[in-house]
Amino acid sequence: MPRRPRKALIIGGGIAGPVAAIFLKRAGYDVEVYEGWPHSSGIAGGLQIAPNGMQVMAELGLADELIRQGSIAESFDFYSQSGRKLGSINRDMEKRFGQPAVNLRRATLQAILFNKAWCSNAELYFEKRLIKIIDRPDQPIVAYFADGTTAEGDFLIGADGVHSKVRRHVVPDGPEPFDTGLIGFGGFVPRSVLEGRSIGGRVETTFGQSGFFGYGFCSADPADGVMWWSTQPSHGVDAATFRAMDQAALKQHLSDFHQGWHDPIPRIIEAADNMVVTDTLDVASLPTWSRKRSLLIGDAAHATSPHAGQGASLALEDAMRLGKLMLAGQELGLTFQNFEHERRPRAEKIVAIARRNGNSKREFSAAGAWLRNQMLKALLPVTSRWADFMYAYDPRTA
Ligand SMILES: Cc1cc2nc3c(=O)[nH]c(=O)nc-3n(C[C@H](O)[C@H](O)[C@H](O)COP(=O)(O)OP(=O)(O)OC[C@H]3O[C@@H](n4cnc5c(N)ncnc54)[C@H](O)[C@@H]3O)c2cc1C
Repeated sequence: MPRRPRKALIIGGGIAGPVAAIFLKRAGYDVEVYEGWPHSSGIAGGLQIAPNGMQVMAELGLADELIRQGSIAESFDFYSQSGRKLGSINRDMEKRFGQPAVNLRRATLQAILFNKAWCSNAELYFEKRLIKIIDRPDQPIVAYFADGTTAEGDFLIGADGVHSKVRRHVVPDGPEPFDTGLIGFGGFVPRSVLEGRSIGGRVETTFGQSGFFGYGFCSADPADGVMWWSTQPSHGVDAATFRAMDQAALKQHLSDFHQGWHDPIPRIIEAADNMVVTDTLDVASLPTWSRKRSLLIGDAAHATSPHAGQGASLALEDAMRLGKLMLAGQELGLTFQNFEHERRPRAEKIVAIARRNGNSKREFSAAGAWLRNQMLKALLPVTSRWADFMYAYDPRTA
């Protein structure tokens, strides 16, 4: 009779990786996490954990800490380029879904997750970039790293994000990430930039004739400033090209792009520094999420463009559901199949919504932008109710 698998190798120490480590430890497995980058507290940018992701945090006993270190998002408000209000969604999330949506710095989230993983006795290794996996019958599965070292386990979880190396092992000739034609800029500015505009817990966002701009708080600490981001058609210029520019040139680009947009957008751009630039990537649906003893989770399985604000929450859900299924102790291949069967429909539905949302941020004619704004005004109440299924999901009872 085959021995019950005991030891998990997890590739990727982003969001899905450390959380899967915690849930697998709870299920009684030995866990080693291998992250390609050095350990750093300087991860840039901010993000929102939606109520469904916060349910996972609650299960980990971390929801209160996230709320304490982040900022509850009380609504998502939409404006036109000239500053006319188009509508508001995502109100009363805590009342409706049992958890609020919380904005926080990515670096804060990462530190909280690493601490919890360490406290759970998962082993975390940094500067371990996976280059190859060998999975032979009757032998441990072996992960090979760029520094010449290896690790052996009974099974391997690919939580290595949109550019996943594990995905290439699971689906050798599978789809590669593709550029969705939009590019993201973002950073933080001092709160004084919003002087005269009291946004409270609202996230304010603006649809331009071309592109999109948003800002909101992501910490209770006034010293932490305001998170902002700009999404624009890339016109074939990739993030690496922008990253090669100095901050003054980036600021000039943003200032030209958002010229004439309503207050406080020009003030935010004027105050911006240490900007980060990101490609907006997507990956087509994979034929399978697992092969033999390797399974993909999070962005590695279902990378999503950021326009639904759900990628991190889906990664958290995956990690928790995997832990629950592994606890049942069924045969590994069957567990992986059950995981994919359960998670794929939900994940791919949300990936498709994010793709559609991204289309509203592309370039429109003046008449097209006017029409889009009218449609947003009329349809937001309906579409926001329809999107409730994303937030109402509770991975404890799924
Ligand atoms: C600009 C932007 C804004 C976003 N905003 C939001 C938001 O507000 N809300 C939301 O829910 N989602 C948001 N997302 C999406 C979200 O960030 C991702 O969906 C989420 O991080 C996926 O988690 P993950 O753990 O699967 O992958 P990741 O967080 O990408 O982690 C993967 C990890 O694997 C490591 N890795 C990669 N290759 C290797 C290798 N070969 N060997 C070892 N380690 C490796 C990486 O270094 C990384 O640490 C946003 C994304 C972007 C780009």
